[in-house]
Amino acid sequence: MGRKNVTCTFCDNLCSLAANTRDDCVSLRPANPEILQICPKAHMWEEYQQHELRITKPLKNVGKRGEGIWEEVSWNTVLDEIAEKLQGVIAKWGAEAIGISECAINHGFGGITRRFMNCIGTPNYIAPQHLCMGNTAQVHRATYGWYTTANWDKADVIVYFGQNRGSELWPGEYFKLKSALKRGAALIEIDPKTTETASLADHHLRIRYGTDTALLLSWINVVINENLYDEKFVAENTYGFDDLKKRVQIYTPQWAEKACGINAETIRLTARIYAGAKAAIIPWGVVGDMQKNSTSMLRCQCILRAICGYINVSELVFGPATGFITNSELAGFDLLSNEQKAKQLGTENYPLFTFKGGSHYEAALHEVGIDHYPDILGCSCMAHPPTLFAAMREEEPYAVKAFFAVANNTIMSYANQQGIVDAFMNQELVVAFENVMSPTAQLADYVLPGDMWAERDVLGPQLDVAPVVTFSEHIACPVEECKDWYYVVKGLADRLGLSEQFPWQDSHALHDYRLGKLDETWNESPGTVIPLTPAAFGKFLTPTGKVELRSTVLESLGYDPLPYYLEHGEEGVDESEYPFVIFAGYRERPNYNTCLRHIKALRQRQSEPLLFINPSHKDEYDLEEESWVKVSTTLGSIELMAHLDDTQPPGTLRIPHGWWKPEQPQGLSADLSKATQHNDGVLFSDADWNLDKEQGVVNLRGGVRAKIEVLKTQRT
Ligand code: SF4
Repeated sequence: MGRKNVTCTFCDNLCSLAANTRDDCVSLRPANPEILQICPKAHMWEEYQQHELRITKPLKNVGKRGEGIWEEVSWNTVLDEIAEKLQGVIAKWGAEAIGISECAINHGFGGITRRFMNCIGTPNYIAPQHLCMGNTAQVHRATYGWYTTANWDKADVIVYFGQNRGSELWPGEYFKLKSALKRGAALIEIDPKTTETASLADHHLRIRYGTDTALLLSWINVVINENLYDEKFVAENTYGFDDLKKRVQIYTPQWAEKACGINAETIRLTARIYAGAKAAIIPWGVVGDMQKNSTSMLRCQCILRAICGYINVSELVFGPATGFITNSELAGFDLLSNEQKAKQLGTENYPLFTFKGGSHYEAALHEVGIDHYPDILGCSCMAHPPTLFAAMREEEPYAVKAFFAVANNTIMSYANQQGIVDAFMNQELVVAFENVMSPTAQLADYVLPGDMWAERDVLGPQLDVAPVVTFSEHIACPVEECKDWYYVVKGLADRLGLSEQFPWQDSHALHDYRLGKLDETWNESPGTVIPLTPAAFGKFLTPTGKVELRSTVLESLGYDPLPYYLEHGEEGVDESEYPFVIFAGYRERPNYNTCLRHIKALRQRQSEPLLFINPSHKDEYDLEEESWVKVSTTLGSIELMAHLDDTQPPGTLRIPHGWWKPEQPQGLSADLSKATQHNDGVLFSDADWNLDKEQGVVNLRGGVRAKIEVLKTQRT
């Protein structure tokens, strides 16, 4: 019997598990004894690994794009052909004509894709973190110079914006929440809907969708005007307090009551509870990442943590970790010329995310001896996804003609799905690195069979947000010809004359190089988490060296340096024709984003995409439980099965994220296995009117309007 440490990446909770092997049987349990149970998804790894839909050989599309006439080819042939086509695109269109969308946690290699891109000369990298935690990271960085992490061990007040945690939804945090509540911590949950977590709250504020920023601004108003802030911390560590004080005077609780539908007295009461705590926390949650006012909402959260004195008490601001080759160092951003960096798509319209935004921290970093480009969440210098897709589609401001979807179901992971499909159709080369024939892979010229988490040795984490080195060991061998992502990168790099920049023969040699600074090797490694020392500078890594309540970075990029509130909404839309407000991106427990829908036991728990709607609309629409409903916005329509739920606010619709049916026929003529029939990305525009001003993140959480029609039968 042997024990191994593995990290499950079936969802972004990245649970650390202990795998015990006896007589070829592997049993999994949480590595941390405080986590009482493992969620059932991890136990499905063998079914996932051996599934009949698993891609096990490199495939080449020999028909038209989207027709899906596949021919098996060897790895050598596929890498030769891709390398040759890449050279052709670079020669004809320039290196910037190559775009990549990647989810590094899915393949286990942080930094290596950026290194490859930096070496070939393209800045056009995107990642789904644009809509999930990555934009939070940019705002934390603009305020504190780095990311804040909630210290659950101390928390006596917890503020959640729509988080619904459970043993299958971020179980690590769920058990921390339960234990905090047990020792007497108070929970304030801000969520229009009653959920499992909301029902545990001391104060559940059923806010109007998409108006969280209005509530937060009025909390700051109360905290400042009632002198509830930490004067010493503000005086010694912050920049711009007087400007902030002036700005929030208009955002009174009475004003906020009208904007967000929460009683002014409740706003005052909850602001006092937050400010009066010893160690309050506002943990990260995705709701803030998908709104019209995202940047202002996240700025308000950052400001509250600081002025109430919780920074480095219950909200820990680490600096870049030292002692290990981080993902950012491996990426080697200095390998990309300034001329190519300046071509990054999004630099002009939404620069906070891009190299241009990142350049504002360089002086502060150099002052403390950091000479590489620390990339908190694998995206601190990425292109703007809608601008990249537009360049692929319309060839403006220049053409992007080759695209890699790396462990990422790109067409379903961003807004304006049809626009992304059109972008793919205008490419000279599309490559997908995948486990199953996702709707994105169905549009590729080459599909490369990737390994899965149980089959690989992973040195991580893949994002530099946590100052630790983690180890995840394989518990099975890759099936047939599945390979790890480094094999692909190395194979292409060698063919493109970049061997010097990729001297590591395989993933273990790469791991040993990264562990070298710690005097460890993969084979001799302890196999458990090694905590790294975050650099302690005695200052914040912002341009002023302070917590910037007034952001000099936003200001120099041409934006309002203080938080504000904009009413969301679609200009010119007739609200009588589109009477519902939609909230999308809802995650169901038996799957994760667009993944796992082919796993039988999970699919049985959630067989169809459910539309949550209040039963008060039943008679008006002749609606029953399980009626099929067509939901339409001004951009597109999808079909969902109605679930009547009286905790869903009347006049609103909740839409699940990422639905397709892997068992259904493939290809464009078959609706990409029903992705075009069910996925929420069909409904949401990625045009400027629906984007957050500063970061260009798509508003999915209130503001977009919809109409419904009950269908007699489901379209098949
Ligand atoms: S919550 Fe479940 S699916 Fe997600 S990482 Fe943990 S075990 Fe895996």
